[in-house]
Amino acid sequence: MKVLVINCGSSSLKYQLINMENESSLATGLVERIAIEGSKLTQKVDGREKYVLTVPMKNHKEAISHVINTLLDDVQGVIKSSDEISAVGHRVVHGGEKYSASVIITDEVMKDLEEFSQLAPLHNPPNIIGINACKELMPNTPMVAVFDTAFHQTMPEKAFLYGLPYELYKENHIRKYGFHGTSHKYVSQRAAEILGEDIKGLKLVTCHLGNGSSVAAVNGGISVDTSMGFTPLEGLLMGTRCGDIDPAIIPYLMDMKGYSYEEVNNIMNKKSGVLGLSGVSSDFRDIEDAAAQGNDRAKLALDVFHYRVKKYIGYFMAAMNGVDAIVFTAGLGENGAETREEIISDMEWFGIKLDKEKNKVRGQERIISTDDSKVKIIIIPTNEELMIARDTLTLLK
Ligand code: AMP
Repeated sequence: MKVLVINCGSSSLKYQLINMENESSLATGLVERIAIEGSKLTQKVDGREKYVLTVPMKNHKEAISHVINTLLDDVQGVIKSSDEISAVGHRVVHGGEKYSASVIITDEVMKDLEEFSQLAPLHNPPNIIGINACKELMPNTPMVAVFDTAFHQTMPEKAFLYGLPYELYKENHIRKYGFHGTSHKYVSQRAAEILGEDIKGLKLVTCHLGNGSSVAAVNGGISVDTSMGFTPLEGLLMGTRCGDIDPAIIPYLMDMKGYSYEEVNNIMNKKSGVLGLSGVSSDFRDIEDAAAQGNDRAKLALDVFHYRVKKYIGYFMAAMNGVDAIVFTAGLGENGAETREEIISDMEWFGIKLDKEKNKVRGQERIISTDDSKVKIIIIPTNEELMIARDTLTLLK
């Protein structure tokens, strides 16, 4: 049985075809510049040269049609008939409060997704466009929605409520939702397997550190708190996002600098984080290089980032009365040895000790704490696509 996983953005689309018999990836691909000049599809298949197709793609339907044709292609393809695709799993960013698990897509689900677009105006609309395009092209193939927010729906009220008038929660759904749920769930389950323990007895802090970053407190396999909030802007500072700030800064900037709502929003989402502090880049590799060459602002940006992650680990250890393992995942968490070392430094008091030699590794599953560390530290490459495919399969069954 093969599951096609689709992650649709506003002008791009990532896909992966997974053989669920052995959970192996048959093909992965990326379509860029949809509806923009220079549309391009890139597909990778193990053991083959990368395939690039450059043709105009006016919309997502055309893009998905090229994806299917490429998967079926005599030379570049990996399947003979589209009937081999048993189901499509779609990554959907916001599932509101209604969806605490993945769901088979029906007309009612589509209506709900439209409604949740209010809560995630940048993310849900392209997800919906992708689902509609797939439905048109594969009308008889079951589709499943896997939500970024679902895993965090187990958070208790004390964790997800803001200190705002309660009516704003009840009437306007203002609360913490949390994101990256599929990744936090995957690495939590994998951590339990690596440690050979029942997840029900484990307290984990999972650090998804990439361009967007979040930390989650996972107690007994369920999310009890996370750093992202009503939107993916809250929490850690990120590549270009500011993360936690005093909310009073926003009206102050609008008053003092005469910024419009759009300008403030743009500053917080696109011009802040490590880019804003360093003035160098939003990519941690560039900032680490600049810091190594003596750029003080680059060093400062890294210090602020590391300190913020450390603080969130501390919050969540307090929330769970301890932690058995801290997990690092995503681009920076998996590859950034320096980042992990800085975040974990000076935490011996908690029984958290990093083995600096074992930490010298990139993108590999590995326990990197010392043998006598009370708390295990683990690198686990995330695999959101596999998690989406697994949920899709479970629902089909
Ligand atoms: P992601 O959003 O998960 O794809 O992560 C992307 C980010 O990971 C990039 O912006 C980089 O800042 C970071 N990253 C990837 N590889 C490395 C590396 N070798 N060292 C440090 N940072 C890295």
